[in-house]
Amino acid sequence: MPVTYHAEHAWIGGTVVAGVVIEVAGGRVSGVRTGVATPPPGVTVLRGLTLPGLANAHSHAFHRALRGIAQRGSGTFWTWRDTMYDVAGRLDPGTYLDLATAVYAEMALAGITCVGEFHYLHHAPGGTPYAGQNAMGEALIEAAARAGIRITLLDTCYLSAGFGAPPERHQLRFSDGDAAAWAVRAGELKERPHARIGAAVHSVRAVPADQIATVAEWAAGRAAPLHVHLSEQPAENEACLAAHGRTPAALLAERGALGPRTSAVHATHLTGDDIALLGGSATTVCMCPTTERDLADGIGPAADLAAAGSPISLGSDSHAVIDLFEEARAVELDERLRTLRRGHWNAAALLRAATEDGHASLGWPEAGRIEAGAPADFVTVALDSVRTAGPPPSLGAETAVFAASAADVRHVVVNGRPIVRDGAHLLVTDVPGELSRTITHLTAQL
Ligand SMILES: [Zn+2]
Repeated sequence: MPVTYHAEHAWIGGTVVAGVVIEVAGGRVSGVRTGVATPPPGVTVLRGLTLPGLANAHSHAFHRALRGIAQRGSGTFWTWRDTMYDVAGRLDPGTYLDLATAVYAEMALAGITCVGEFHYLHHAPGGTPYAGQNAMGEALIEAAARAGIRITLLDTCYLSAGFGAPPERHQLRFSDGDAAAWAVRAGELKERPHARIGAAVHSVRAVPADQIATVAEWAAGRAAPLHVHLSEQPAENEACLAAHGRTPAALLAERGALGPRTSAVHATHLTGDDIALLGGSATTVCMCPTTERDLADGIGPAADLAAAGSPISLGSDSHAVIDLFEEARAVELDERLRTLRRGHWNAAALLRAATEDGHASLGWPEAGRIEAGAPADFVTVALDSVRTAGPPPSLGAETAVFAASAADVRHVVVNGRPIVRDGAHLLVTDVPGELSRTITHLTAQL
């Protein structure tokens, strides 16, 4: 049944437009009319600035259980990873369904309508396959359905602890043994209206060089997205140089893993040649600034990558916070701190990263814009909250990107269906309660 929305203001074609009627049929936008000051009778009114749905291009849902715990005391990236493995070791398909449903519901409340789940928790502890070999991946797909959002399950190949090192105890459940076995298992996953399937190489640490092409070819054969963690820590670069005499980016290029369907996640510590390889191949770079801050990774050269030809997407990754507005502004603000200059990205460019380019990175190139034919996914940000009141609506994009928070998300529509109304999730009634229940159970005695 067709539904009609009236957006007080909407982000259309890279500008704020007042009084926009959005007609929806069959989950898609069927018409957009601008300059309609008064809501016609019977329409659903969206007060504030309506943006295309936000794409969270890099997620590990179970890391949400580490919030707070990861901030206790100090430690390094590698001690953080040990704690993360302890949580991973406690999950099974049932508990992961419950946790991920709550995490994806938190994302929906933050205006995220599509998540890219970089999923490597495939098997039972010790590495024994579940009866349904994709039980964990299926739990994530079902969790996204329950939370009302789209998902791209980036089924991740993870085979080794390091260059030439077999998986360690906690990593056994990540491994399929070799890339050929990974490809068979991942090939059994089925797409659904809300779910698409992509591939990931965990990193050049975790997939031996002679296995990378198998994963890249699997993705190429399906025209599916291919994601990879790249040069997040200097230690990875040093180990890769020692093992292969080239940087991780050069190794991926050599093995056919870069290109317009590929997203390199983090890309923090790059050489000039690495930047040219990524930009020249139109590889997307997924920046995750709140995680990169939290883990002391560093500030990636996002501006140089964009200038070289890489689209930028955004991810909340470890979910230290889930707020795509914070990720978006951090790309610009971190660059200001690094260069002592302002004005690398404007709000429109950052919104593009959070919407259109993020969706393309996840294999939904038709999404991320409010236009006829696009999926009817949109999010309305309040322009009258304590954080956003004051600026004129014509500066709504600047206000959303540089001042709003996830708490300013008022309404969310996915596939034409309201998922969040007046800041409340319509499918998961008590999101904080579900987060608390599932995480308390998982992290007892950690
Ligand atoms: Zn990650």
